[in-house]
Amino acid sequence: MSDFTYVVDAEGVATLTWDVPGKSMNVMSLAGFAELNGHIDSALADPAVKGVIITSCKKDFAGGMDLNVIAKMRDEGGAGGIFDGVMEMHAILRKIERAGMDPKTLKGGKPIVAALPGTALGIGLEVPLACHRIIAADNPKAKIGLPEIMVGIFPGAGGTTRLVRKMGAMMAAPYLLEGKLSDPKGAKAGGLIDEVVAPEDLLARAKDWVLSAKEADLVKPWDAKGYKMPGGAPYHPAGFMTFVGASAMVHGKTMGVYPAAKALLSAVYEGAMVPFDTALKIEARNFTGVLMNPSSSAMIRSLFINKEALEKGANRPDAPDQTVKKVGIIGAGMMGAGIAYVSANAGIEVVLIDAAQDAADRGKAYSEGILDKGIQRRKVTAEKKAEVLARITATTDYAALSGCDLIVEAVFEDMKVKADVTAKVEAVVGADCIFATNTSTLPISDLAKASQRPEQFIGIHFFSPVDKMMLVEIIRGKQTGDVAVAKALDFARQIRKTPIVVNDARFFYANRCIIPYINEGIRMVAEGVEPALVENAAKLVGMPLGPLQLVDETSLDLGVKIAKATKLAMGEAYPDSAVDEVLFGMVDQGRIGKKANAGFYTYDDAGKRGGLWEGLAAQYPVADDQPELTQVQHRLLMAQVLEAVRALEDGVLTDIREGDVGAILGWGFAPWSGGPFGWLDIIGAARAVEICEALTASEGVRFAVPDLLRDMAASGATFYGKTARKAA
Ligand code: NAD
Repeated sequence: MSDFTYVVDAEGVATLTWDVPGKSMNVMSLAGFAELNGHIDSALADPAVKGVIITSCKKDFAGGMDLNVIAKMRDEGGAGGIFDGVMEMHAILRKIERAGMDPKTLKGGKPIVAALPGTALGIGLEVPLACHRIIAADNPKAKIGLPEIMVGIFPGAGGTTRLVRKMGAMMAAPYLLEGKLSDPKGAKAGGLIDEVVAPEDLLARAKDWVLSAKEADLVKPWDAKGYKMPGGAPYHPAGFMTFVGASAMVHGKTMGVYPAAKALLSAVYEGAMVPFDTALKIEARNFTGVLMNPSSSAMIRSLFINKEALEKGANRPDAPDQTVKKVGIIGAGMMGAGIAYVSANAGIEVVLIDAAQDAADRGKAYSEGILDKGIQRRKVTAEKKAEVLARITATTDYAALSGCDLIVEAVFEDMKVKADVTAKVEAVVGADCIFATNTSTLPISDLAKASQRPEQFIGIHFFSPVDKMMLVEIIRGKQTGDVAVAKALDFARQIRKTPIVVNDARFFYANRCIIPYINEGIRMVAEGVEPALVENAAKLVGMPLGPLQLVDETSLDLGVKIAKATKLAMGEAYPDSAVDEVLFGMVDQGRIGKKANAGFYTYDDAGKRGGLWEGLAAQYPVADDQPELTQVQHRLLMAQVLEAVRALEDGVLTDIREGDVGAILGWGFAPWSGGPFGWLDIIGAARAVEICEALTASEGVRFAVPDLLRDMAASGATFYGKTARKAA
């Protein structure tokens, strides 16, 4: 089986069609690259061939490099193997770019054009960038760009070097540094591709171009005499400003914890000062450095390989297809309205119920608001809006739930209200209907007591805002059956969320880990640690929000509610009184967070966040002796990580992949680390034990080393290594 077909027509135009067997999207493998190379050799050697079209017969061009291959290259070949492999790819792409021309006279080359029917990402754009022209079909759904940075690497098959030379560093920055993707028209406007044509004209236009191309059309600007980088190279006054600015901006955004961003900047900066072929070598060297960095393997593992595996149902029980056709959502508040939107948007019929009709209508209006914004941004058409809204019935009438195969309950966080709703729903829905609750704090097994069918009762915990947050936490109650789990997973797939499946215990998984993080931050304030030190320590270790900003966002009064409930449940063993003093005190003063424009931070009338609230220092004076930065970081990280390990020990988590993916998508746990377990593997269990022992001595037993970690330290095991997986 081959990935490319090669056909030469009567006029001497060779068409190389990418069509990886058995896949809906082309991905590049090493074998695929070798095949492409062979066909290019044939085309260049065959005097009957005048030029080449590289295209795909699938609806898209390509999704990128198979990242499993990259992982394999690293594991098998080490740094030397990666560098050699990457340089081989460079040689093939350079051969396409030179296309047989004499390097001195730049004459005698054959035109090679990329014809993109749809999406072209990563290597799927790096190959076209080596061609002499890129023509894309006008397909508004297509995405074109270089998203590598999003999984902790950067474009390493010449994409970095070519894009910067084609567009200039400033214009290339959003594509390289932020992984910006454009539709074909946007890509043309941005200078990423050369031409957009009607889909039905794509191949004809490509052929026309090949047959009419002049020798000068085949010479890349950087191979022509007198080439100057658009916007200026680093030693040019304008270029200098770009590079200094970019360096500061990247550091400000990444806090220096993402090796790929730094390496990308080095490749761009150093590469801009040398000839093209040397720049490719510099790119390869930096790319190799990134692949050898444990952070990039951890990011690829969690954000690509394992995330995809979970989305494809890695932990789905063996049950028949449970695709949701009609979902009933009870409670049209903030969460219910969001769940209704994502469901209707995925083509599912929705019945949205609230206690009063105007509340139900407001819930539906939320979808309208999102769709209107989409129309303004030209992402949604008026027809699409009408279609989505027509799928949502907003009502107070439970009878409308008849025919629903899934219910998602999102009413007030109150056991009794939820129990009433459960009984009312079960009176009208069919015997097979699955009932899911979106509770964030109440045990699923307790809520299931109100159900006549506890095996069909499950938790589906969404995060706010529902349309933006990618994670859903599926919670198995004591009696939840496999079909209910399969239903929840199939629903998550339909609405394009990443699911994790956890067992029922206080705060499930995500909240269980976030709460200690917030509490550790607040505890430090009570101890007199400079609040700015707490916040910056968190950011410098890669947390998107410091704990004080995070609790401002989620609101301090919610924190008080949770603290009271936890204290009630734990009694004497409750460990967070010192935290409560600050938390309750803030709430007593009306500083309940962002929603009140007053919390640990100040906010202006428009809700824009200012600095940390100075009044805090009057109540919790800043101590003369401040802890070391690393001490603060260890406390903030270990507060979360130990909770994740305990969740694994307790059987709440059954799969470390879910623990890592859930942590990054659920609460933004330092993505560079690949998640809590990824981080522990990077530092090693022995070092983790050392840190925890020191923290236990200085801070107390909340940092006591879990047995699992101690055993792993003794045996030298890692979470993602074979021995540890068995132990876990
Ligand atoms: P909300 O107050 O915005 O919405 C609750 C809605 O339920 C209201 O519109 C209310 O009128 C309706 N309701 C109350 N009793 C009802 C009944 N008997 N029948 C029909 N409708 C009824 O609350 P929310 O923030 O959307 O939270 C809903 C649920 O989701 C809670 O269990 C909460 O713990 C959980 N949750 C919230 C978040 C969050 O960030 N807000 C995140 C995850 C889970």
